Amino acid sequence: MSFVTRFAPSPTGYLHLGHAFSALTAFDAAQAAGGRFLLRIEDIDQGRARPEFEAAIFEDLAWLGISWEEPVRRQSEHMADYAAPLQSLIARGLIYRCFRTRKEIAEAIASAPHGASEDRFRGEPLPADEEAAKLEAGDAFAWRLSLKKARSVLGPAYFTLVFEDETGLVRAEPEKHGDVVLARKDFDASYHLASVWDDALQGVTQVIRGEDLREAAHLHVLLQKLLDLPQPTYRHHRLILGDDGKRLAKRDQAATLRAMREAGQTPSDIRRLLGLQA
Ligand code: GLU
Repeated sequence: MSFVTRFAPSPTGYLHLGHAFSALTAFDAAQAAGGRFLLRIEDIDQGRARPEFEAAIFEDLAWLGISWEEPVRRQSEHMADYAAPLQSLIARGLIYRCFRTRKEIAEAIASAPHGASEDRFRGEPLPADEEAAKLEAGDAFAWRLSLKKARSVLGPAYFTLVFEDETGLVRAEPEKHGDVVLARKDFDASYHLASVWDDALQGVTQVIRGEDLREAAHLHVLLQKLLDLPQPTYRHHRLILGDDGKRLAKRDQAATLRAMREAGQTPSDIRRLLGLQA
């Protein structure tokens, strides 16, 4: 069986130890399986992505001893690709235009019967005449996935959707997410859509990423089902914590690979620190 995995960083800051753990875990797994390792630049958020961070990703990964296949897929160069899945979802009524502002969404969540603690939103498309008036007025909107429609389209398959991760077979619970945004008004795809689409396009068979994205799998497998895409196997690894016990973030400068390199650490030191085999 073929084994294709990837590391998919967003160039919005310098890579830190947590990224190194993710990249090395995926790279080592591909090596061990005699498989392929891909690097994908997830730069759809053009407001935050910066070329110098992308250049630093290449440099830091090469320094770690990681090699990847060329060409690297840079999502910002393929924005038109995401129109096809969006059109297909629109045609089946699976996504709807949501004109609510962030504040209105927060209020809707707070007043929902499930209670304010659950950060998820469920909406409905507007009646056609109201929607037409808003479109006419040029109001902003987002395309949201309708879980209600997904349930009715898939029928019993919605409730028996499963995926495999390091814990075994997991029943997918897309409800954890509510009706997520899959694109903005002008078809700017969201992370969820772009990532799922690209994983399929690139033939990724194993998604290896941090624990922080465990919940995302519950939504991603639903998108795969709705878009008739193959389902990869998932593996979520532990997160690397800073001295304060919190997970590392882009602001933790001391843990960036470049800071560690400048402080004289070697790639083997990094592997040792992460508990990975040298
Ligand atoms: N681009 C995402 C991030 O930087 C990773 C997405 C993924 O691995 O699916 O967190």
